Amino acid sequence: MKKLFTLFLCIALWVVPRQPQAWGFFGHRLINRLAVFTLPPEMIGFYKANITYLTDNATRPDQRRSVVPGEAARHFIDADVYGPNALSQLPRSYADAVAEHGEDSLLRHGIVPWQVTRMKYQLTEAFRVHDTDRILHLSADLGHYVADACVPLHTTRNYNGQLSGQRGIHGLWESRLPELLSNNYDFFTGPAPYLDNPTKTIWQAVARSHAAVDSVLCFEEELTASFPEDRKFGFEERNNQTVRTYSRDFSRAYHARLHGQVERQMRRAMQLVGAIWYTCWVDAGQPDLDIMPKTLSEEEKQRLKAEETQLQNAPHTASTGHDE
Ligand SMILES: [Zn+2]
Repeated sequence: MKKLFTLFLCIALWVVPRQPQAWGFFGHRLINRLAVFTLPPEMIGFYKANITYLTDNATRPDQRRSVVPGEAARHFIDADVYGPNALSQLPRSYADAVAEHGEDSLLRHGIVPWQVTRMKYQLTEAFRVHDTDRILHLSADLGHYVADACVPLHTTRNYNGQLSGQRGIHGLWESRLPELLSNNYDFFTGPAPYLDNPTKTIWQAVARSHAAVDSVLCFEEELTASFPEDRKFGFEERNNQTVRTYSRDFSRAYHARLHGQVERQMRRAMQLVGAIWYTCWVDAGQPDLDIMPKTLSEEEKQRLKAEETQLQNAPHTASTGHDE
């Protein structure tokens, strides 16, 4: 099984195009893609038939961020603004959280765990009514938000090191490191488990991400102190442009200090995405996916095309939170 998975991984890594200019795109595409291989035999055929769709649409929620009102808040939670025990104390029900903190405040500080729970119910319902278009649309989006919840810097108000003189660290951790170094990662996660309490699991995942924030920031700070400025950054060619970025030496040294943290979080994200897809299917009564249409309807293809055009042409408005 492991050998087979390694083969899949080689193919997946080869197929996933590098988009170094787009923060986080590489990771999101890879996580949605490899989550498919954690699924049980009853599901994998349907998901494999749509693996290109799930990969290509893994980043759509980010494309909507500055265009669709309310979208930005779905990608993060500034756990530290609610105090040190926020992640064990915040209400798990969104309605209760609104009653306690007010919706404006929740949206300003991000709602990713509530978003995942809400979409878990939506995807379960889509399975229940055998709606291929909706299953695929929700699976792709859900994969994105679950993956965001596994990024430490998506759980703090200092999300880009802007409060600690480390501006740029967000892209370094979630894009530069995996783009540069994930070829050696082991993404074997084993099969996706059924989640008895998906809400509890997503909050635990956020808590684990949040617990890693200190090391993400401290290791970068310590390394910067021992790295001459002219070796910390370098210039690289991207799309015929010369851009200033963290040097390969600095990135490798930082990666080594993190002791596999990026790899672990990516692996967790893949398994959790698979686990939530699987749990939705089980909770919907395990519908037979083999007798459902395996591809998008013509209407859905047209809708996606129209949305694409709309996203490209819409004026970008200021979004709430984590704008950098
Ligand atoms: Zn996102």
